[in-house]
Amino acid sequence: MTLDDLPPLREQLAAHDLMARKSFGQHFLLDLNITRKIARLARIGEGDTVIEVGPGPGGLTRALLETGARVIAVEKDPRFLPLLAELGGAVGGRLSIIEADALRINAPALIAPAATAHVVSNLPYNVGTPLLIGWLTGAFRPASMTLMFQKEVADRIAAQPGEDSYGRLSVISQAVATARVVMDLPAQAFTPPPKVASAVVRLVPLADPPPAGDIQALEKITAAAFGQRRKMLRSSLKVLGGGALCAAAGIDPNARAETIDITGFLALARALRES
Ligand code: SAM
Repeated sequence: MTLDDLPPLREQLAAHDLMARKSFGQHFLLDLNITRKIARLARIGEGDTVIEVGPGPGGLTRALLETGARVIAVEKDPRFLPLLAELGGAVGGRLSIIEADALRINAPALIAPAATAHVVSNLPYNVGTPLLIGWLTGAFRPASMTLMFQKEVADRIAAQPGEDSYGRLSVISQAVATARVVMDLPAQAFTPPPKVASAVVRLVPLADPPPAGDIQALEKITAAAFGQRRKMLRSSLKVLGGGALCAAAGIDPNARAETIDITGFLALARALRES
């Protein structure tokens, strides 16, 4: 059996009597035209290693495997394992399936001895943001991340200063990676459809990210600044140094958080470290 011989996903789900479970955030992509587009946008190809969180019935996994990549799929719901094993049987060892909670596993251990891995995932919404923050700021740095989020969260990740969605998630993400919304998807693209629209974000970690200490300081600065986003920085940052901190960073103390770009926030973070 090859990938081309596999039955359509809807038939496989029916044959295995599988229904989506709300508690696992299950909304499936069963249209291979959509999953192939995501694989193309992720720029995955032969020889790449991909970590996919939450393969479910395997629609995105199939598209990733079609590119010739090796896929390590981490799925929490054991009901999908037989179906994923069928998929693995069609690609001669290029699919490794790990039954685990992605919030608890050790990603570097998964990819050894491969040096780098890309992450591509239609994420369960409730774990998407903590996983993203872990990949952006933790020890495991993916080569790239192509991730499905609720549209509102995707917009927050990629937002620019002055936009309504610009906030903590934009600053933390873009301090360590480039971030772009590459695809919008209506709720009807999923089975069953979620309540809100979705979008795919592609993030590529910077070759030379700021040191970990700056990122820790950035987390404090952005929490305070966006916690009171309508206030001037001299007031919202008062407990961290207020006007004096802004002066040390070369930032206007009368400005509001939503107008400060990533460079400005990093200057504030460095000033906080040095204060
Ligand atoms: N990738 C599939 C697709 O596009 O059709 C399924 C996407 S569905 C939105 C999310 C998937 O993540 C489900 O298969 C669910 O069981 C799985 N999942 C939920 N929480 C998880 C966790 N903490 N670790 C690993 N997988 C998880």
